[in-house]
This record gives sequence, structure tokens and C-alpha cells, in this order.
Amino acid sequence: MEGKADLHIHTAYSDGALSAHEIIHRAREAGLSVISITDHDHTGALDEAILLGREVGVDVVPGVELSATVRDQDVHILGYFFDHKNPRLLDYLSHFRAERVKRARRIVEKLKELDLPLEFDAVLDQAGDGSVGRPHIANALVETGLTESYYEAFLKYLGAGKPAYEKKFQISPREAIELVAYAGGLSFIAHPGSCIGDDLLFELLNEGIDGIEVVHPSHSPDRTLYYRGIASEYFLLTSGGSDFHGGRKNGLDVLGKYAVSKDHVDMMRRRLR
Ligand code: AMP
Ligand code: ZN
Ligand code: FE
Ligand code: FE
Repeated sequence: MEGKADLHIHTAYSDGALSAHEIIHRAREAGLSVISITDHDHTGALDEAILLGREVGVDVVPGVELSATVRDQDVHILGYFFDHKNPRLLDYLSHFRAERVKRARRIVEKLKELDLPLEFDAVLDQAGDGSVGRPHIANALVETGLTESYYEAFLKYLGAGKPAYEKKFQISPREAIELVAYAGGLSFIAHPGSCIGDDLLFELLNEGIDGIEVVHPSHSPDRTLYYRGIASEYFLLTSGGSDFHGGRKNGLDVLGKYAVSKDHVDMMRRRLR
């Protein structure tokens, strides 16, 4: 592939394990010429990544992953090429993060009622400066020996519909898309194959989405083709990436394996004009 792009990467500013610095170096080693850092509700890694990327020859596209909700279902929206200094966007993101902290507190309360006495500070330790998410709670549960594994934590307690589940702050996909557009960016439906059915996908096409993430570890080759077909039918852009979490969610080796050609990024740039 001439010029590979991985447009879905998390750092320690959300629930990834690695710093922007480590990501850039690993991206270069993996032969990626473009990446996007798409932390959940956070843009803290972008400045460092962009600067360092320039030094080592990895182009860094500003990105973010927002969580929206439709009828109690999570829909993730990836934003790209927005102005990551836009004050309104930054205000919203810090509000979403504050709401994440409150939600994590509610989850810890529920865990206590389930006889899992997890200290809230143990969760904050896991999150550091990053936006707090359920992966941090799962890791804290494992580290304190309250559950055997990360996946057990989700399966028994933290997953949607499980006894310690708590909803996030709710925004609609349209609100997420408008926020990204306000800051001059493009919105993509993230990993449709892992979270939403085809009916909901078609519903979202009417909400002003600019593209679909077609390449993702949760998509079979058939699914990827299917989403490419829909994108082409509706004149939408396409993107893809590894959803890298620094080894936390999927392995370290996914970096470089789930990529799209650099053309995809050029098409995004053209759509911005
Ligand atoms: P949050 O942003 O707090 O809702 O956490 C969402 C993250 O938790 C996702 O990006 C996944 O990395 C992880 N996650 C969600 N559900 C599961 C699950 N059932 N098993 C493992 N990880 C999950
Ligand atoms: Zn994540
Ligand atoms: Fe996601
Ligand atoms: Fe993600």
C-alpha cells in the first residue's frame, strides 16, 4: 500500500496505555505515514504528536472520539481535521470529561453495593490525566484482585446492562456532528460493525455524517466491503484504523495492520475545502 494511514489510535489521554511520543515512534516503525490520534473526549495528545510527527515524518491528523446515544445505544463518532484549539469544542470536551468522572463515581458506588470495595482513587490512578472510562475501572478491579481479568470485569459488572453499568452524559449523534462541524472538522461513524445495526446506520446517514469508518478490527472483510458500498452510494468518505489502545484492548501488533491508503486522507482534505 502506497502510504498507509491508521486513523484510530488512543493514547494515555484516554484509555490507551502509551504516550503520544511512544505512539509516534511505534507508528513510524510500523510503516505508517499518516495517523490520527482519536482519544475519547480529549485532545491533549495532539500538540505533542503533531510536533514530534513532523520531526520523524509521520503526518498527524487531529482527531477525537465522541460518544453519542440513540435509544440507549452507544454510537461513537470520530471527528477529524477540526481546529483542536476551538474554545467551544474544548469547553464541551472538558464538560464530557467532568461527567465521566461523576459517572465513574456512580459505578464505584454500585460496585460497593455488589461487595466489590474498589477505592475511587484506584480508578483515578489508572486514568492519570486522561478521560476516565470503564477500561480504567476494569484495570483497577484487576489490579486490586477484585476480578480475575479485564474481560470478566466487563462481562460481570461494567458492560451495558450489567449490574454496575452507568450511562454516560447523553448527546445525540447530530449534536456530536454539529460540534465537530462547528470546529471545522469532519465526522465519521466509528466501527459501525461493532456497535450498531444496519437500520441505525441508515438513520445516521440523515444526520449530516461525512463518512464511515470501514476498516476496523471488529469488521470482517465482507463488512468492510459492505460499508464501502454504502459510502460510495451516499457519496460519503471512508476511513479506517486499528483502534489501538497500546496493548490494552487489542494487541500491540495491530498498529500498522488495520490501515487505509493515504488517498483516504487526501479525499478528506479535499472535502474540507
Ligand atoms: P467508556 O468510554 O467508559 O464507555 O468505555 C468504553 C470502552 O470500554 C470502549 O472503548 C472499549 O475499549 C471498552 N469496552 C466496552 N465494552 C467492553 C466489553 N464488553 N469488553 C471489553 N471492553 C469493553
Ligand atoms: Zn477506548
Ligand atoms: Fe469506539
Ligand atoms: Fe476507539
